[in-house]
Amino acid sequence: MNLDDAVRKVPDFPKPGILFYDITSIFTNPAAFKFVVDSMLAHYSGVDVDGVIAIESRGFLLGSCFAVSRGVPLVLARKKGKLPGKTVAMSYDLEYGSATLEIHEEDLALSRRWLIIDDLIATGGTLAAVAKMIEVRGGEVLGIFSIIGLPFLNYKNKIGKYKPKTLIDYDSESCKTE
Ligand code: AMP
Repeated sequence: MNLDDAVRKVPDFPKPGILFYDITSIFTNPAAFKFVVDSMLAHYSGVDVDGVIAIESRGFLLGSCFAVSRGVPLVLARKKGKLPGKTVAMSYDLEYGSATLEIHEEDLALSRRWLIIDDLIATGGTLAAVAKMIEVRGGEVLGIFSIIGLPFLNYKNKIGKYKPKTLIDYDSESCKTE
């Protein structure tokens, strides 16, 4: 599977100078979607994860596949103001701008050994914020999964200790796949 072929690249979105890697083109490609889900499940087959936290919004699509397949709770990390119950919140910087994510507080008590899932790791700020929300409540982050990584943004400085796993990495000029 050449995953690169299945990733839509959109220059100057959402603002000039950003090359946006759009993974909705993976979800419209059944072979590519299956490859991503199978690769994710295989990577964690021996890892004793008992909960998955998926990040809004594209992380939800992979997180739900993982949760159903492994029979573990799926917890959503949502943009500020979307969750109706009592939440914990964390603000963080993005490759472009800043944001706040929230998680239902009681959901964080459901599990202790978490996998965090998103679609793409840029600076790692989003994932670091979610990892912190888990850790301050006594949970452990066993891993981070994302389809795409942008290692030239040095995300390992922020989240390297959580063993981030990506299926395809892009640098500023070329790409490599596993
Ligand atoms: P970061 O916190 O910097 O790792 O940013 C990761 C989040 O921002 C993910 O939820 C991505 O969906 C989104 N994101 C950041 N940069 C890009 C990009 N170049 N292409 C697509 N999505 C991006």
